[in-house]
Amino acid sequence: MIDVLQAFPLPSFVVAPNEIITAINSKAEDLLGQTTKGRHYLRSIRSPDVADAIDYVLQNGGDRQTRWLTTISEIDLTYMVFVSGIEEGAALVTLEDTSHVETSRKMRRDFVTNVSHELKTPLTSMLGFLETLQTTAQTDPVAQQRFLEIMTNEAKRMNRLVDDLLSLNRVESEERTKPAESVDLNALLIATKENLSPLNEKTNTQIKLTLPDEPIEIAGHSDQLTQVIVNLIENAIKYGGSDKDIMVNLGPVDYQSTLRCDGVCLSVTDFGPGIERSHIPRLTERFYRIDHHRSREIGGTGLGLSIVKHIINRHRGRLKVTSEIGYGSTFSVFLPKS
Ligand code: ADP
Repeated sequence: MIDVLQAFPLPSFVVAPNEIITAINSKAEDLLGQTTKGRHYLRSIRSPDVADAIDYVLQNGGDRQTRWLTTISEIDLTYMVFVSGIEEGAALVTLEDTSHVETSRKMRRDFVTNVSHELKTPLTSMLGFLETLQTTAQTDPVAQQRFLEIMTNEAKRMNRLVDDLLSLNRVESEERTKPAESVDLNALLIATKENLSPLNEKTNTQIKLTLPDEPIEIAGHSDQLTQVIVNLIENAIKYGGSDKDIMVNLGPVDYQSTLRCDGVCLSVTDFGPGIERSHIPRLTERFYRIDHHRSREIGGTGLGLSIVKHIINRHRGRLKVTSEIGYGSTFSVFLPKS
């Protein structure tokens, strides 16, 4: 029996009718401990659900399935437990780690909660203003004008959020297909700078572009690379502050161990307040904002850097953020040279 158990790809053990573990494979020993054999199964798995399943099968035969939630080295794990009646009234118990399924379920639930919350806030505000327009503000054209402006801004926020969600969905679904279009990054940056000039005028900012003499061409998706540059420059303007310069540099870089080849680096530097070190690893998480209130005030959706990360992943590149409090931040995009 132990040979068959040993060949099982999953942690497994046998419980005799007297509730003692009589055989166990090494995967189960790694999980439950080396001294499990010859002891009562409850000393290894102390779960009422698992105990019910094993007791049932020991008494009635047949099959039972249940879940076992445990914590090993401070990590929460979920196992599916399959209990089957075998010869001489014993039970075969097999454990399958399904923690990754639970994690992705939780991520999906958190995402739905976040999206609902992000949509609900502007919606609640619009409903409030609509009610005021229909009641107290009915005869006050000045208040009406002001409320309509606020409602327009809230509707625009919802529109931006839906656009960003659709973008995120698209880039995520394409992440595994490597883009093949040939993109001239010098030309792309010049065009993007031109397209952002109305925003620069409005915020009294300037983009200082430094390009290499030779054009740099890479295999990429030009619309998505444009979106990366736009999102980074818009953030530099939003968080770096008005009346400041934004430096955008493009250049070749030598062998990058993270890319495993020569690369190109495109960086966006602002001279804003900077980002505290503890926030940096979390900036590309969906809906992560350092200052929720400020991001909302300036129309942020909390998805811009998440979209940037997925597009860079699709291009097999890397994003690096460096920042110094009081001096500013640099977002560097490393892309493989084709
Ligand atoms: P948002 O829509 O809130 O701007 P992003 O995903 O683009 O969402 O950015 C996430 C958060 O990262 C922002 O809310 C902000 O707190 C921070 N951040 C992004 N870029 C910068 C920057 N250049 N300087 C300081 N903080 C930044």
